[in-house]
Amino acid sequence: MNAPASLLYFDNNATTRVDPEVVQEMLPFLTEQYGNPSSPYSFGKRAANALEQARERVAALLGCSAPEVLFTSCGTESTNTAIHSALAVDRDAQHIVTTRVEHSATLKTCESLAKRGYEITWLGVDSKGQVDLEELEKAIRPDTALVSAMWANNETGTLFPMQRIQEIVKKKGVFFHTDAVQVIGKVPVNLQDAGTHFLSLSGHKLHCPKGVGALYVNRKSRFFPYMTGGGQENGKRAGTQNVASIVALGKACELAQQNLEHEGSYVRQLRDDFERLVFEQIQGVTINGDPESRLPNTTSLSFERTDAEALLLFLDQKGLCCSAGSACTAGSLNPSHVLKAMGYSDERARTSLRFSFSRFNTATEILHGVELLKSGVSRVRSLSAA
Ligand SMILES: *Cc1c(COP(=O)(O)O)cnc(C)c1O
Repeated sequence: MNAPASLLYFDNNATTRVDPEVVQEMLPFLTEQYGNPSSPYSFGKRAANALEQARERVAALLGCSAPEVLFTSCGTESTNTAIHSALAVDRDAQHIVTTRVEHSATLKTCESLAKRGYEITWLGVDSKGQVDLEELEKAIRPDTALVSAMWANNETGTLFPMQRIQEIVKKKGVFFHTDAVQVIGKVPVNLQDAGTHFLSLSGHKLHCPKGVGALYVNRKSRFFPYMTGGGQENGKRAGTQNVASIVALGKACELAQQNLEHEGSYVRQLRDDFERLVFEQIQGVTINGDPESRLPNTTSLSFERTDAEALLLFLDQKGLCCSAGSACTAGSLNPSHVLKAMGYSDERARTSLRFSFSRFNTATEILHGVELLKSGVSRVRSLSAA
């Protein structure tokens, strides 16, 4: 079953196409292999073995050991689990440090904790979306329970200097969580001797189905379960495992590892070609984010005098999927919190679109996409000028 021939899917930071090899790998666990991995007989053991193979594969991609990988239902659950675990260790540590550009999984969780009496320090970012490391260091206090900072931003692709952030947090001896949902499979990650206690990832951002994720929990750190019940996942996450999806995640991580270099060169080339052609053919375009430190697959662009929502609708009619980098709440368009944190005016934020590519995109699609974008921009500009 193929996507419509005319579909140009340039929204891979929102979700990705499931790799056919991943589907093949998970199918037996949706059909004949329906055993419960916690059952003692060999039919159940087969499912348990499949879980352990998946755990090994995820661990191999992360550069950690298999028992440090905990399967969850999504990236959001992983992040909630990490934050709540860190807070459960010391009831007197009621302070969290995070950034203004986090995904809502972190943002909304911290906002809701703030309503329950926790104190949150929100680190701002500069016009490239980068945090100030001195400010980070100063923000960490004796009563800080946790620092949570995303590795790569989903809207702009800006990569935080993770190594240096880890070093700073490690010196202070507080828990560190990173939302790595956007980096896994795009940039090499090695947790071997990093100062990270928790790392969140999500299957559907790396060519695996939706509804499965993982949380890395450093074996030396204390951990408190978020979901309580049965003893699954070594007592760390109750609930019968989603075996088929976990098998899929394992396969997706194995493929991601094999494709890492390819992602870094082929996909980067597609993105760079796209940007180059856009700059050549469309006037008044600027890149949002940090061109020196950015995901290889992402470009966020501002189109001067162009309402991004109108452009998005035009592109949608032509079968091109991208993102306005803003959430449409109750019919009113809120400018992206990420672009606002970068100091953009509402006006500029409302002219921004994000395009994110994957290994399933082609050079032909890039050419076609730029053509559509060119006609879309001139259409929207002429309408608003009229
Ligand atoms: C998609 C995404 C998430 C949420 O992952 P889900 O599996 O959809 O819950 C969290 N953080 C970032 C940066 C993301 O891009």
